[in-house]
Amino acid sequence: MAESWVVVGLDNGGNKNNATVLDSSGSFLVDTLYEMPSRVTEGPEIAVRALVDSFEDILRRTGTERARVRAVGLDSPGPASAEGVISSRGSTNFSHAGWRNFDFRGALQEKLQLPVIYNNDANAAALYAHYELFGPLATQSAIVGTGLGGGVIEKGRVIKGAAGFAGELGHIHVPMEGLLGPEQPLPRCNCGFSGDAESVASLTGIEMNLLPYWLGHHPEHELAAVGSISKAAKLVRVYAEKGDPLALRIFEQQAMALGRLFTIAAAFTDPEGYFVGGGVVEAAPHFREWFLAKVREHTTLKDEQAAIARFAVVPHLDMAGARGAALAALRSLKP
Ligand SMILES: [Zn+2]
Repeated sequence: MAESWVVVGLDNGGNKNNATVLDSSGSFLVDTLYEMPSRVTEGPEIAVRALVDSFEDILRRTGTERARVRAVGLDSPGPASAEGVISSRGSTNFSHAGWRNFDFRGALQEKLQLPVIYNNDANAAALYAHYELFGPLATQSAIVGTGLGGGVIEKGRVIKGAAGFAGELGHIHVPMEGLLGPEQPLPRCNCGFSGDAESVASLTGIEMNLLPYWLGHHPEHELAAVGSISKAAKLVRVYAEKGDPLALRIFEQQAMALGRLFTIAAAFTDPEGYFVGGGVVEAAPHFREWFLAKVREHTTLKDEQAAIARFAVVPHLDMAGARGAALAALRSLKP
């Protein structure tokens, strides 16, 4: 029974917490989504209590004794420090004044009286994607591009950086030459940059930059009649799955941006795994494969890199945060 201990993963989201249990051999005891209200808008005290509720709920559901839990992984959206202190510049989730500079990780640790390991949600998802491709304690390297904010895994560990902002791959500038259509304006990102990966390869990028340009050139297209550009943006994937040429052009631009981002990553950390996150993960298989092939086509690798590189989508996107958080907790105990 020496191997009978477990870790718990808690994924804190804007509306819901999602929880999982991982045993010490690297097997998940939970294979569906167990969600509880996160109550983050009501401030940190109530939100920490909600996480304790999720923790107790998942132990009950899996019939796990509390004494078997050795550590807890917590992930949340940023901005937060590497140690899980919420940034003084609030995000949409943490707008309640009590969150400012709140030590989220420390507060949960005190309530649970167990070691708590913190990661932002993108890094947790990256860690889980790495696990799915390479195994629970594997030491390969991987990166995840956009849709999730991005993440860098080096030899099985999350690269957090000095201030906790490493792996923000979406906000790396990528070359736009040959990617943009004739007279297409330089795409802008919410972060304030123009021409970064996320300005193209995200739903916001479709809504703000790509779709307005393409519909301007094709006012006869059905999507122009939808009325709301944000509604139309969400429909582009459905059209792409049906083979609509305009929708496919939009996704080709996204694939090019991701491929160019991965080309930078190949020069930077030279990973083995290249993961694509975002809406395309839930797309029809034929379209997902088309998109992945396009990303690969636009990723320029050296022959030695190409021989070992693996391209995939982030698996189980809805559970990836909780599972990655649990893996980080496991790794903290099995260095
Ligand atoms: Zn940006």
